[in-house]
Amino acid sequence: MTDGATNLLEGKKGIVLGVANKRSIAWAISRACSQAGAQLAFTYQGEKVRGKVEDLVQGLPGESPLYACDVTKKGEVRSVFQDLRERFGQLDFVVHSLAFAQREDLEGDYINTSRDGYLLAQEISSYSLTEVAREAAPLMEGGGSVITMSYLGGERAVPGYNVMGVAKAALEASVRYLACDLGKIGVRVNALSAGPVNTLAARGISGFGKILDVVAEKAPMRRNVEIDEVANAALFLLSPLSSGITGEIVHVDCGFHALGL
Ligand code: NAD
Repeated sequence: MTDGATNLLEGKKGIVLGVANKRSIAWAISRACSQAGAQLAFTYQGEKVRGKVEDLVQGLPGESPLYACDVTKKGEVRSVFQDLRERFGQLDFVVHSLAFAQREDLEGDYINTSRDGYLLAQEISSYSLTEVAREAAPLMEGGGSVITMSYLGGERAVPGYNVMGVAKAALEASVRYLACDLGKIGVRVNALSAGPVNTLAARGISGFGKILDVVAEKAPMRRNVEIDEVANAALFLLSPLSSGITGEIVHVDCGFHALGL
């Protein structure tokens, strides 16, 4: 976080979905938001990651409510926001930073994607944003900001990204529709399209190392993006500095998306 960003979120309350470990983009965003003065609640997918998330969150100042929430389990998203209403009263921002596709659907040809694999990727990586926005909206009647995480594979065909690219395309379209729905109550909805970052989810994509190499060689800035640069852009979208921006997909990828060849 840059010095000028101190206090940007002073007095604001937010929830972060998608911290699995210290390498998660959601965690980098959480650190930036906490340093900027926000109080945070967190969800984690399940028992497997609970300990890691608890350890990370303990290092933050103030009270941070923590909820188990697997977005494929009916009713879990709703119960998080119902409880959060009791704890926080109202909410200023939401960070949606989660996605999943089966490993076999992240290699080989996209054409071989199974029906179940397709639906699962859509449910977790795209539909969950719509459900989260719907459940969060009643707590955000004073206005607020929702962000999600996308990738260039939603706009262009990136070998190996396959079914996740199709889910990101749906996610980005959802951002625009949700921005229209929630703009009426002063809630903005945007996505960051981040360049490749070495995380647990990224390591599931076949050829991820090659993607990093191509970006480092060809991106206008001749390097990969740093996770804290993604977090700083998130801070901008969550803060009043971006008060006129909604329905936008902001690329934080050292310019790679701008290339033709
Ligand atoms: P990560 O593995 O740290 O985070 C992915 C998160 O999704 C994990 O916390 C996992 O528990 C959660 N998740 C998966 N299935 C879930 C379910 N059913 N219910 C609830 N949570 C579930 O990896 P990351 O790279 O930080 O990914 C965060 C977001 O950033 C994802 O949307 C990813 O597609 C996106 N993104 C990542 C990159 C990259 O290169 N790492 C680039 C652009 C966008």
